[in-house]
Amino acid sequence: MQAGEVHTQPDLLDVDRVRADFPILQTRVNGKPLVYLDNAATTQKPAAVIEAIEQYYRSQNANIHRGVHHLSQVATEAYEQARRKVARFLNARSEREIVFVRGTTEAINLVASCFPRAGCQPGDEILITEMEHHSNIVPWQLACQQYGLRLRVLPMDDRGVLRIDLLDDYLTDRTRLMSVVHVSNSLGTVNPIKEIIARAHARGVAVLVDAAQSVAHFSVDVQTLDCDFLAFSGHKLYGPTGIGVLYGRENWLEKMPPYQGGGDMIRRVTFEETTYNALPYKFEAGTPNIAGAIGLGAALDYLESIGLARIARHEAALLQYATERLASISGLRIIGNAPAKAAVISFVLKDIHPHDVGTIVNHEGVAIRTGHHCTQPVMDHFGLAATSRASLAMYNCKEEIDQLVEALHTVIGMFQ
Ligand code: PLP
Repeated sequence: MQAGEVHTQPDLLDVDRVRADFPILQTRVNGKPLVYLDNAATTQKPAAVIEAIEQYYRSQNANIHRGVHHLSQVATEAYEQARRKVARFLNARSEREIVFVRGTTEAINLVASCFPRAGCQPGDEILITEMEHHSNIVPWQLACQQYGLRLRVLPMDDRGVLRIDLLDDYLTDRTRLMSVVHVSNSLGTVNPIKEIIARAHARGVAVLVDAAQSVAHFSVDVQTLDCDFLAFSGHKLYGPTGIGVLYGRENWLEKMPPYQGGGDMIRRVTFEETTYNALPYKFEAGTPNIAGAIGLGAALDYLESIGLARIARHEAALLQYATERLASISGLRIIGNAPAKAAVISFVLKDIHPHDVGTIVNHEGVAIRTGHHCTQPVMDHFGLAATSRASLAMYNCKEEIDQLVEALHTVIGMFQ
C-alpha cells in the first residue's frame, strides 16, 4: 500500500497489505519465515521510510538553515516539514514546541539537565515510578546529584499497576516534576496518564510523559493530555534510529536554559556574551539528523495512512489472542497483568532461563527479547533477573502468535 492510499474496509487492518510494505518481513531465519516480535525494542521500516531517506541523500542532501543555495533550501524545507508533521501528529499548538533529538533517552536527558536550572531549589523533589525504563531513572539520578534534588518513586502493585491511590502522598509541596511512562516496555501496562497529569497539575507539578511505547499503538494528543513534556523515539514507530522528539510546552522551553551549545542554537555570539536562537532551535545545537527527521516524517505519513485507530483495534485483538494462547501453556507465567495493556507480553516459562527460551525460539525463526528490558527495578519487584518478551506491531498476525506458541512447546520439550 502507498502512503495516503485509503483502505477499502474502513475498520479492518489488511495485515497482508501492510506486511507487503515491509521488505524485511520476507526474511527467512534458519529456513523458517521470520516472526518478528521484538517491536518494543525497535520496529521494522516500511518501504516509504527507506525510500524517503534514500531520496534525501540522492537528491536533497545539504546542510540546513544556513545556506542560500538551492539544495540547502530544499533540505531545510524537508526538515522543517518533518517538524510540522510531528506537531500535527501530537496536536502540538505550534512547531516551536517540537525539538528534534536522538530519541527518548536524549529527550529525557535534555529535560533532566535543563528543567532543574529553571527554578528548582536544593531539596526539591522529582517523582518517577517503579516501572520506568532506565532512561527515565538514571538522568534524574544524575540531576539529583548535580542540583541537590530528591528522587521519589511511586510504587506499583503485583499486577504491574501504578499505586495511583498513593499519588497524592507522593506529590508534596517540594515536588517540581513528575516523569512517568505512558506504556511500560516490560509489562505492557497503559498508565492512566491524563488522570496522573491532572492530579499533578492540581499540585502545581509539571509532567513529562515517556511515550516511547505509546505513540505507535494509539493516538496521543498533547493538548488533550495537557502534559508539559513528552518524549518519543522515531525507531519505535516505524521510523529510523537516531531521531526522536521532545515535545515541550512553550512556556517551559522558553524558561529553560539551552541543553548544548554550538551552531544553530545561537542568535549572536561574542566572546563576552551569547544570545540564544528562538524555539525550538535553542535546543538543537549542531547539524541535526536531517535524513532521520525526514524519515520520521515519512513514518508518520505512513502511520496516518493506515490510521492509528485501526492499528489500535488490530493490536488489541492480537494482544488478547496472544495472552489467551500463552496463558494456556502449562508452566508459563505472564508478568504484568494490568487491566489496561498495549502490545507487550512478558513471561517466564517454568524455570527455564529466558535466554535459553529466546535462543531456542530463534531456531524456529521467532524473534523475541529476553533480559531485564532496561527495567531492572521492575525485575526486582517480581524477584526475577529476566523475562522473555513478545511485543507486537501493526504487521503481526495470529499465525505468528501460533508460531511463537509452537516454538515455546519446542522449548518445553527440550527441557523435559
Ligand atoms: N522509554 C521506554 C519506555 C522505552 O521502552 C525505551 C526503549 O526501549 C526508552 C525509553 C529509550 O528509548 P531510546 O533507546 O530509543 O532512546
